Amino acid sequence: MLTADQYLDSLRQLNFKLYLFGEQVDNVVDHPIIRPSLNAVAKTYELAEEAQYKDLMTAESSLTGKRINRFTHLHQSSEDLILKVKMQRLLGQKTAACFQRCVGFDAFNAVDSVTYEIDKELGTEYYKRFRTFLKRVQEEDLVVDGAMTDPKGDRSLRPFQQSDPDMYLHVTKRLKDGIVVRGAKAHQTGALSSHEILVMPTVAMGDEDAAYSVCFALPSDTNGIIYVYGRQSCDTRKFEEGSIDMGNCRYGGHECLVIFEDVFVPWERVFMCGEHQYTSALVERFAGYHRQSYGGCKVGVGDVLIGAAALAADYNGAAKASHIKDKIIEMLHLNETLFACGIACSSQGGPTASGTFLIDLLLANVCKQNVTRFPYEIARLAEDIAGGLMVTMPSEKDLRHPEIGAYLEKYLKGVNSVPTEDRLRILRLIENMTLGAAAVGYRTESMHGAGSPQAQRIMIQRQGNLDQKKKLARIIAGIEKE
Ligand code: SF4
Ligand code: FE
Repeated sequence: MLTADQYLDSLRQLNFKLYLFGEQVDNVVDHPIIRPSLNAVAKTYELAEEAQYKDLMTAESSLTGKRINRFTHLHQSSEDLILKVKMQRLLGQKTAACFQRCVGFDAFNAVDSVTYEIDKELGTEYYKRFRTFLKRVQEEDLVVDGAMTDPKGDRSLRPFQQSDPDMYLHVTKRLKDGIVVRGAKAHQTGALSSHEILVMPTVAMGDEDAAYSVCFALPSDTNGIIYVYGRQSCDTRKFEEGSIDMGNCRYGGHECLVIFEDVFVPWERVFMCGEHQYTSALVERFAGYHRQSYGGCKVGVGDVLIGAAALAADYNGAAKASHIKDKIIEMLHLNETLFACGIACSSQGGPTASGTFLIDLLLANVCKQNVTRFPYEIARLAEDIAGGLMVTMPSEKDLRHPEIGAYLEKYLKGVNSVPTEDRLRILRLIENMTLGAAAVGYRTESMHGAGSPQAQRIMIQRQGNLDQKKKLARIIAGIEKE
């Protein structure tokens, strides 16, 4: 396994074609806007080295028998699924941000079971290729971007019906030694933190969409892949001096638009090419795993936000007010409900034909549906407790100013025992998590990450077994015999 420093050094070897603020960036690792998100991924390496987290952060590989980082593991039991959620909660607590490595992790587990089924039924060799790829990921302890979401153009049209055929990533040429692909993947979490990109189809495809039914992996700096960095609220604060106004100056997440401009993929890296009938299983399983993930990561980030809100109350001298206590209880209740869903869908998981364990899909979708709501309520309560100063307070530069700094020290103070600076730091942290750069990960990503709310509702309807429930009612009402 790599150390955190070795991981950062390994990224220095990559040659990304990246644009940020209209300029090409050569040094991704040391760029002040990008670095916090690399630090968050580095934490997945750092904690794996600590003896106290060995069981959570590492696993015994089902492919090689060696000890590997859990983020590269294929789940072999419900216990593995539960440990995954607990690991994500821990990392959320340690970074208060999106640590990005789960998308590839979730992609491996989905691609593994689906390629096994394709090979078994069609006699292809995708599974063999995929396992060779994954073995290398495990041995070299790599980060992989699981890339699913296409730009999608006109949502009322199927991929093959789009006026611009590139709105969904597709195969443009089949050659003797590989394929050529064109298109884009949007909102790619951790794209620049990754050594490899694992591309999957974004929706269930039909017959006419065969060219869009493609799954493959490439080194993330392959020629023809272009990255455009996504802006975040308050991102330019990272250029400023000081450490208060960023709220969380060490960790963050990032998303990119990733463009594939006629990129060649050798056959040994292709895991699906035209088998449209398997796209729905791949999308469902990947989304299911990532919806499970949110029952871990968002809970860990929520733990930090609840702690910050409670400290804001302490620093204001309001902690004993009964309504404050009750609001904090409500935040705890909502957060633990999300965790309960993450654990539940894990514990009810079962093996797929490849032996890799899958979560209970209905419960994973219920988990994510709750995540589209509860973090918003937790954030609302945190803002309520924080008070208006969270969005009206002056900058760190004013606090340090030789003339007015003393006024801020005096007038922005809460209880006597707490330095003004500490109070401001906590308020900036709450701002960062509810309105600033980290709000991408805690709020809007809670809404749309791993699929927007309606996507879960469709799955809940499909998995909810309404017919069986009607039957139960008919029997109890005396309409039908048992
Ligand atoms: Fe992992 Fe959560 Fe970020 Fe998804 S949103 S990559 S589950 S930390
Ligand atoms: Fe996400």
